[in-house]
Amino acid sequence: MEWEAVIGLEIHAQLATASKIFSASSTAYGAEPNTQASAVDLGLPGVLPVLNEKAVEMAVLFGVAVGAKISNLSIFARKNYFYPDLPKGYQISQYEEPIVTGGCIEIQLQNGELKVINLTRAHLEEDAGKSIHEGFDSSTGIDLNRAGTPLLEIVSEPQMHSAAEAVAYMRAMRRLLRYLEICDGNMQEGSFRCDANVSVRKSNDSTLGTRTEIKNLNSFRFVEHAIQFEIDRQIEIIESGGDIKQETMLYDADQQETRAMRGKEDAHDYRYFPDPDLLPIKISDEYIRTTAAALPELPVQKRKRFVEEFQLASRDADVLCEDPAVANYFEAAAVESMGNARLCANWVTGALFAAINAANLDIEASPIAPKALGILVSRIADDTISGKIAKQIFEAMWKTGLHPDELIVEKGLQQVTDDSIIAGLVDQVLRDNPDQIEQYRAGKSKIFGFLVGQVMKLSNGKASPKQVNDILKKCLNSEVN
Ligand code: ADP
Ligand code: MG
Repeated sequence: MEWEAVIGLEIHAQLATASKIFSASSTAYGAEPNTQASAVDLGLPGVLPVLNEKAVEMAVLFGVAVGAKISNLSIFARKNYFYPDLPKGYQISQYEEPIVTGGCIEIQLQNGELKVINLTRAHLEEDAGKSIHEGFDSSTGIDLNRAGTPLLEIVSEPQMHSAAEAVAYMRAMRRLLRYLEICDGNMQEGSFRCDANVSVRKSNDSTLGTRTEIKNLNSFRFVEHAIQFEIDRQIEIIESGGDIKQETMLYDADQQETRAMRGKEDAHDYRYFPDPDLLPIKISDEYIRTTAAALPELPVQKRKRFVEEFQLASRDADVLCEDPAVANYFEAAAVESMGNARLCANWVTGALFAAINAANLDIEASPIAPKALGILVSRIADDTISGKIAKQIFEAMWKTGLHPDELIVEKGLQQVTDDSIIAGLVDQVLRDNPDQIEQYRAGKSKIFGFLVGQVMKLSNGKASPKQVNDILKKCLNSEVN
């Protein structure tokens, strides 16, 4: 009998607020340890948390975007546990009354099929600090810069059935959050990470198997490896007569394996209770309606529109819609390209991606503005320049930031499209290569390409290749006859 894997994810998305969820400290990444930790973040006695309204707005925006129910009244709760990076001895989270309940997201499977994953809930909470082991001898440092950073924890139903599906879900979720501009999705910096709950069962079982929970996965590759490793490990244990223990695991990326960290706590271990320092969050139906009305275009809609409006291949639409900044760049370029959006898509995903990757730049920082790239593309389409010359112009635009038309004129790179000039070049090449012409006539058809190359060379690459082909063919044939 076949095994079926069952996976549910708890995603922690750092909300893109400037300050923390209950204090005025900055959330900017990368500062010296403990320079962004106020008395509130340190959990000193007598301090009181003040809720950051922006975090609430972002949670509501998320809920509306996934079609969830937004609670008119939601409550912060204390989740009690001891850990050195949690000086208060409790984390402020939500438990019985989360701000967002239900909703769903569409993911794309490897075979192109779409699948809907339902969400259980999403709640607001604060992040903990960080233990630092490096650079300390037989002791551990604590950095509380991250303590109090606003998180949206998004909990899925256990509806994914492979590591690849879990990754597709993570990708779709990250893309959505970036479109909503509520999370930067930076996984290296920990702004987007997940805990993966994994169990296996025989495919005809109606009940779920015992799960383990792999903590804190912060790259798509780790999510994929860790889940696959855990599925294989569980199947092996059960097949050899053992039982799965409900445990919390960690993923060791060096050894590429999951290891038990501790027995799994149950909710009652945390002694959740409503935080007496914080008022319930009240959200009116009016506010929810206004938020829904102001929702930006979402990735699924944008992708569909790109295919319809710009006739993009669905693969190109996927790549361009992955990141909203890329989608915006493409659209601004396409509008300028005089109806040559597909060619524009090729230039964005080809030359431009290569250049920004090589320079390690975000697309917003590209020295070539989207409009300028659109114009370059239209110059190829209207035969002002060839695709090959366009590569040269592109490089010059990248270096100088100049307008493509300026560079085309300055470098004298306009494509030669005058038949009589091209015929003259063809004539000269035919005169200079009598041996090759003989070979061509003897049936060596490859020589044709060589002759085209010679004409192109003579024109410094500026002759229209299509016209060179036509005229050369005509000349050779007329000489044969
Ligand atoms: P906790 O907060 O204690 O981890 P939850 O009940 O909130 O527990 O579940 C967390 C995640 O675990 C959810 O995403 C849920 O879909 C998933 N999950 C629950 N049971 C299973 C199971 N048997 N197999 C796989 N995933 C599961
Ligand atoms: Mg959990």
